[in-house]
Amino acid sequence: MSRLHIVPTPIGNLKDITLRAIEVLKEADLILAEDTRKTKILLNHYSITTPLRSHHKFNEHREVKRICDEINSGKSVALVSDAGTPAISDPGFLLVRTCIENDIDVETLPGATAFIPALVNSGIPSDRFIFEGFLPQKKGRQKKISRLADEERTIVFYESPYRIVKMLTQLIDYMGPDRQGAIARELSKIHEEIIRGTLQELLNHFTENNPKGEFVIVIEGKK
Ligand code: SAM
Repeated sequence: MSRLHIVPTPIGNLKDITLRAIEVLKEADLILAEDTRKTKILLNHYSITTPLRSHHKFNEHREVKRICDEINSGKSVALVSDAGTPAISDPGFLLVRTCIENDIDVETLPGATAFIPALVNSGIPSDRFIFEGFLPQKKGRQKKISRLADEERTIVFYESPYRIVKMLTQLIDYMGPDRQGAIARELSKIHEEIIRGTLQELLNHFTENNPKGEFVIVIEGKK
């Protein structure tokens, strides 16, 4: 049956893809990818020859209608992002919503995403948590952090290496230096590491060690 398949792809280690994801990518008529060159590396690795077309935040608004028409005409379409699960801090939401509005069947495969292993490996309570993704870089950033200071659930952020020190400094400003946190770096890659400690200890670590790679920040909720 023609439908939209949302397919998670590895966040580092190419082996972190499910057998079903490979099957769906092989059988689809078209794969929509954020960066076709990056996705090509994965497809070549698994001998997947399905045609690729680019779908990213700069063209998704003008493309969604055309994609719905293609699915309605009988094509099976798979959406991937550069890494992890589409629509999680990546393009995807708009297409899923438009398909639903157009009565198109959507199937999301379970699979790789960065925040789940970071949360579980943090040792910070994972029974209730909120995922904040990336904070706004400028406008509204401080306000958001000040509101989150009273949050009792565990808080998970994505952050770029260039703003890790700034982020930890701002978190300390609003949450104090003694709040527990964990920073997962380069999950599933050669230089994977997790640093656990108080916000002050984490700040000291990344002041002494230049942050490099990809990061997930996990912060315990207010006690
Ligand atoms: N769709 C992805 C997912 O499901 O996790 C997230 C894409 S978002 C554009 C990229 C951010 O995810 C990075 O800046 C980092 O915060 C986090 N991330 C992705 N891969 C990671 C990895 N291997 N280790 C740590 N964080 C990662």
